[in-house]
Amino acid sequence: MTQDPEAKVALLDLTYPQLQNLVLSLGEPPYRADQLYRWLYGELATRFEDMHNLPQPMRQRLEQTASVRGLTPLEEKRSSSGLTRKFLFGLPDGETIESVLMLYDKRRTVCLSTQVGCPLGCPFCATGQSGFVRDLTPGEIVEQVLYLAGQLKEGEQRISNVVFMGMGEPLINYDATWQAVQTLTDSRGYNLGARRITISTVGIVPGIERLAGEGLQVGLAVSLHAPNDDLRQSLVPIARRYPLSDLLDACRSYIEHTGRRMTFEYALVEDLNDSLKLARQLAHLLAGLLCHVNLIPLNPTADSAWHPSPPDRVRAFHGELRRLAINSTVRLRRGVDIEAGCGQLRSRRTRAAGAARPPSRPSGEGHDVRAHPGKPIAFRNNRT
Ligand code: SAH
Ligand code: SF4
Repeated sequence: MTQDPEAKVALLDLTYPQLQNLVLSLGEPPYRADQLYRWLYGELATRFEDMHNLPQPMRQRLEQTASVRGLTPLEEKRSSSGLTRKFLFGLPDGETIESVLMLYDKRRTVCLSTQVGCPLGCPFCATGQSGFVRDLTPGEIVEQVLYLAGQLKEGEQRISNVVFMGMGEPLINYDATWQAVQTLTDSRGYNLGARRITISTVGIVPGIERLAGEGLQVGLAVSLHAPNDDLRQSLVPIARRYPLSDLLDACRSYIEHTGRRMTFEYALVEDLNDSLKLARQLAHLLAGLLCHVNLIPLNPTADSAWHPSPPDRVRAFHGELRRLAINSTVRLRRGVDIEAGCGQLRSRRTRAAGAARPPSRPSGEGHDVRAHPGKPIAFRNNRT
C-alpha cells in the first residue's frame, strides 16, 4: 500500500517521543509537546482551535499537517436499562468497529476492539464469523476510550476500567495494543492504572509470554471454553497451535511475573462443554492456579447453531466448580438486547449492506487457521 504524502499525521498514533519530535519539527519548544499531550489525553480535545494555550501559528500548522481524531460515530445502541451503550464507529478507510461502554458496579468500563474482524475464526463468535480486514492502529484503539470518556457526564469524564474484549485478538496485534496500553497509562496524559486494564486473549502463547515480561500489572483473561485439547480445538481453532499444556505454562509464568490473579473465560454451550464431567476436568486443570473462572452462557449469533446452556445446567456446572474449590462467577449477558456480543452490531450492519459492499475478506483467506491448519499465523508484530 503506498502512503499518501499529503496524508495528515494522526496524533493519537504517536508515542510521546514521536509527538515531541513533531513539535520540535514545527520549531516549537519541547514544553509545547506536554501541553499538546495534555489536550489530547487529559482534556479530551477534539479540535486544534480549542487548544487555547498553544500559539495560533502552531495550531494552524498542526491543522494543516495533523489530525486529532479519526473515528466517526455511526450508530449507538443503548440497553433497556441504559447501563450498556454500544457504539459503531467508521474508520478513515471506511471500515467499521465496535466499542461498548458499561456503567455498572460503580465502574465506567469500556470494551475495546483491536482489529477490524478477526482472523482466528472461532465458530461461536460474530467477529470470527465475519472474517478479517486489518489491524487497528494504536491511535484507533486509544481513541475508542477518549470518545467514550467524552460521552460521560461533564466533570466525570473518567473511564475507570478498560477491557480488550471487543473485536479482534489483541495479542496478534501486539505492538499497537501495547502502545495503546502505554498511552492510556502515561501519567502525563490519560493516567489510567495498569491494574484497571484487562487484556483478553484466545490463548496466543508467545503473546502471553511477551506480556509477562513487560513489567506492567495489566490483567490477563484467557478464553478457555474447554478443559481438554480435543474439545477446545473445535471451539477455538488456534488451539491446534497452542495446546493446553503450553497455554497453562504461559499463564503460570504470567501470574509469577505480575503477582496477579488471572481470569479464564468459559462460554457455556448447551450439550457441548457444559457437563459435570467437563466441570470436573476444568477443576482438575486449574487446581492450584491463582485464577478466577467467568462462566458466560453463550451469546447466540446469527450464523451459529449452538445455544446457550439453560440456567439449570449453568447452575450445576458452577456448583461443581465451587465444590472443587475453583473460584467462579456466572456472568450475566448484559446488553443482550443491543447485540452486545463481540462483533454482532457490525455483522448485522454488514449483512444488511448485502452485496453493496463486500463485508470483509472471507475467513478462508488471509491467515485463518481453519483453512491452513499447519501454517503459522503471521505474528508480524511479535518479537518471538
Ligand atoms: N480475541 C479475544 C478478545 C475478544 S473476544 C478473545 O477471544 O479472548 C472477547 C470474549 O468474548 C472472549 O472471551 C470470547 O470467547 C467471547 N465471546 C465471543 N463470542 C461470544 C459469544 N457468542 N458468546 C459468549 N462469549 C463470546
Ligand atoms: Fe477472534 Fe476472540 Fe472472536 Fe475468537 S473469540 S474469533 S479470537 S475475537
